[in-house]
Amino acid sequence: MENGAAKPVIVAIDGPSGTGKSSTSKAVAAQLGLSYLDTGAQYRAITWWMVTNGIDLEDPSAIAAVAGKPEIVSGTDPANPTISVDGTDVAGPIRTHEVTAQVSAVSAVPEVRARITELQRSLAASAESGIVVEGRDIGTTVLPDADLKIFLTASAEARAARRSGELKGADVNATREALIKRDAADSSRKTSPLAKADDAVEVDTTELTLAQVIECVVTLVEEKRAGK
Ligand code: C5P
Repeated sequence: MENGAAKPVIVAIDGPSGTGKSSTSKAVAAQLGLSYLDTGAQYRAITWWMVTNGIDLEDPSAIAAVAGKPEIVSGTDPANPTISVDGTDVAGPIRTHEVTAQVSAVSAVPEVRARITELQRSLAASAESGIVVEGRDIGTTVLPDADLKIFLTASAEARAARRSGELKGADVNATREALIKRDAADSSRKTSPLAKADDAVEVDTTELTLAQVIECVVTLVEEKRAGK
C-alpha cells in the first residue's frame, strides 16, 4: 500500500485439535500487532452454559431452543484473550473434561453455529489492524474472503503427545482416542464441518517446532501484506 496505515489483514487458521493452532495463532497475532480470536473457546463457552443450566445435550432441539440465551463476550488481545458468559469469566471452566467431551454435540447444532458465526464475523469486521481467527470452519464458512487461509495438520500421535503434555499427567492413549473421536464428530457434522478450504495453505506441523510453525505463518502473512 502507499502511505498511511496498512489495510486490515484477516488470517484464518483451521485444523484439528493438537496441531498447535492456538499457540501459533496467538503468537502470530502478537508479533504482527493483530487481534486474535479463539473460536473454539466460544463453542466451549456456550457448551459450559448448557451444562451449567442442565440442558439435555442429547436433544439437539433443546440446545437449539436456548442457543440465543447466553451472552458470550470474547476479548481479542493476543496477550490476554478473555472469554465470559453473562459476565462470568469462564476461561478455566471451559477447559474441563466435561465441556471437552460435550462440545462437539453442541457445536453441531445449526442454531448454535449461526449465533456464534455472527459474533465471529462482527469481531473480525471491527478489528482495526486485522485479526487472526482460529477454528475449524473459518476459511470455509465464517470468513471465506480471508486474506490468508492456513490449514494446520499433524499426525494423531504428535497431536495426542502435545495435548497430554498440556493436560499434565494425562494418559497419551486415552487422549489420542478422545481427540480422534472429537475430530471425527467435528468433521462429519452436516453444518460447517472441520474442513480445509480449497485455497488454504496446508502446513503439516508433525516434524516442526512451534517456533518454526510461527515463523512459517508470519512469513506467509507478510508476503500477503507486501502483495497488497
Ligand atoms: O479448538 P478447540 O479444541 O477448543 O474447539 C473445541 C470444539 O469447538 C471443537 O471440537 C468443535 O466442536 C468446536 N469448534 C467448531 N468450530 C470452530 C471452532 C471450534 O465447531 N470454528
